[in-house]
Amino acid sequence: MLNRKEKKQDLDGLKYSVKEDGRARRIILTVSDGKVEVTKPPYVPVEEVNKFVGSNRDWILERLREQKKVWGEMSPGVKLPYRGRRLVLKPFVIGCGQIRIDYKDGVVYLYLPRSISEEERQERIYQKLRWWYRKRAREVFTERLGHFAAIMNLKYNRLRVKDQKTRWGSCSRKGNINLNWRLILAPSSVIDYVIIHELLHLKHMNHSADFWKDLAGFLPDYKLQRNWLKENGKKLTL
Ligand SMILES: [Zn+2]
Repeated sequence: MLNRKEKKQDLDGLKYSVKEDGRARRIILTVSDGKVEVTKPPYVPVEEVNKFVGSNRDWILERLREQKKVWGEMSPGVKLPYRGRRLVLKPFVIGCGQIRIDYKDGVVYLYLPRSISEEERQERIYQKLRWWYRKRAREVFTERLGHFAAIMNLKYNRLRVKDQKTRWGSCSRKGNINLNWRLILAPSSVIDYVIIHELLHLKHMNHSADFWKDLAGFLPDYKLQRNWLKENGKKLTL
């Protein structure tokens, strides 16, 4: 288990935190988001960590300078909207490789190669984030569609994740369901409302009284979600 006990250290003005981790086999140094973190195995004394940080001082300062330059005011602690929550964005500058994103436990790790020029950076980061959101949207929508289609005993043909300004979802006569990727920025209950709404169009191709009656059967508080979308839909953007 990760030991959450964290010790703040200050080595001649260089601030860093030390965490103990029973799984760590060596001292691990990370510089991210303008912060320096050291993870150490429990048996390694703090003095040894301080020595380690001291001998890597120039490297750490260089990374901090570099991150400040790359991220400017975006750093530290950018929060990304996601399913009604806020994810923490942790940027890392890497020596080589492709720009990439890892996601784990509410943290989005963004790895930005040094080779991407300063002028290109913001655009490339934005592009990559959009790509990531659309990928997550497809995964989440597919899962929720499957879940509700089974409960509602309805079959859809295929899912298309679209990029639209005002439309949240639609259902075609062929039984294809289209969903706006921006929905992934909304709370899960709102995503579920749109999914149930579109699935129900497989049965009712209109907004008749029967449609709304059926919808209320599956989602008694659907008006809450519908109103939320009306009021906040415009804000669902990166
Ligand atoms: Zn509709």
